[in-house]
Amino acid sequence: MEYSMRNNENTDFDKLCESEQMFRGTFENAAVGISHINLEGIWIRVNQRLCDILGYTKEELSRISFQAITYPEDLPADLSKFEVLMRGELEHYSLQKRYIRKDGQLVWVYVTRSLQRDSVNKSLYSITIIQDISALKAGEQKLTENQHLLHKTANELKGKNEELETIINIASHDLRSPVVNIMGFSGELARSINELKEKIMASNVGDFQSNEIMTVLNTDIPQELSFIEQSTHSIDQMLRSLLKVSHIVLADINSIQIDMNDLLENIVRDSEKIIKENKIELTIEPLPNCQADRGLIKEVFFNLINNAIKYLDPTRPGKINIRGFIKNQYSIYSVEDNGRGIALNHQKNIFKLFHRLDTDSPTEGVGLTIVRRLLNRMDGNVWLESQQGKGSKFFVALPVS
Ligand code: ADP
Repeated sequence: MEYSMRNNENTDFDKLCESEQMFRGTFENAAVGISHINLEGIWIRVNQRLCDILGYTKEELSRISFQAITYPEDLPADLSKFEVLMRGELEHYSLQKRYIRKDGQLVWVYVTRSLQRDSVNKSLYSITIIQDISALKAGEQKLTENQHLLHKTANELKGKNEELETIINIASHDLRSPVVNIMGFSGELARSINELKEKIMASNVGDFQSNEIMTVLNTDIPQELSFIEQSTHSIDQMLRSLLKVSHIVLADINSIQIDMNDLLENIVRDSEKIIKENKIELTIEPLPNCQADRGLIKEVFFNLINNAIKYLDPTRPGKINIRGFIKNQYSIYSVEDNGRGIALNHQKNIFKLFHRLDTDSPTEGVGLTIVRRLLNRMDGNVWLESQQGKGSKFFVALPVS
């Protein structure tokens, strides 16, 4: 009987030792810092990981309080909660804070404190878990810095863009008046030359001299005047186009829900005459709504449809098809034609200002520049698929809402 009692006692003792060992193992080998802190904030038990985080030995920590090595700015938030916890009025709390390591470096940690009570519910110590989050904080800091940089660059870019657009606006506006003057004065010059011719004919200049003067007046000067007129006309045309671009791209945007079926019907009605005259087969399939400025989006589709008409292949009946669908929160529309198409090497350039495939054509080469700029301003996009000799398909994406 006595023997078996001792045997039982031994088993209980063994179990106790085993659980004590397990507890120590967990405490010592945990990958996070674990400590027990008394009511004054002194570290009464710490594991090795905590020593590694703070750079102090166990011995050194047992002589200081957590308050002493907390970064002063972070102390009030921790201390006010610690006091409430130790009074038994709070079960646990967590916070991010900085400790000053023994080598003077700051270390960011995530601290969780809970309360250990004794058998009569009196506060004994705080169990504190400490995780080193320096790498996370450094990443956060880098991210914030990058976000600031991105924001700053975007603002600078926006400012430069606006500045540039204002310069274009002013330049195209102001340059027009001297150009108009040159056009007017070359007309005057032509009239003066005609007068001169009449006077020479009426005067009695010798035949030989008269012939020479007449060659200059009839051939040389008119030819030169015609070059001046052509050049000033094309400068005038370019300035008008620039002015048009700057007016359109600087226009205020009033984004609303747009019934695109109604809008497209409107645009097609405006081009009805040319569609009928050229016997173009135009089909519009049901289109989804989108969020955009009605006036500006009308300008976009007016340009695309007019181009589809303008660049049809005269050797075959023209077909234009307009479709739309929704994908990833965007309404995607396509304007497809069976016209002359665009060679691959030209495709990347056609959205550039004044770019035309046929430089002899009387067109302005600004329509697609306006289309792209307007769509960018309305959070949209434009791109194309085209095959030379077969046709083109222009896509427009705009937010659904
Ligand atoms: P513009 O039509 O006034 O020349 P755009 O900027 O609208 O100016 O178009 C630029 C060039 O792209 C046009 O000159 C034309 O060569 C080409 N292009 C545009 N749309 C089409 C189309 N649907 N089919 C073939 N070529 C096109």
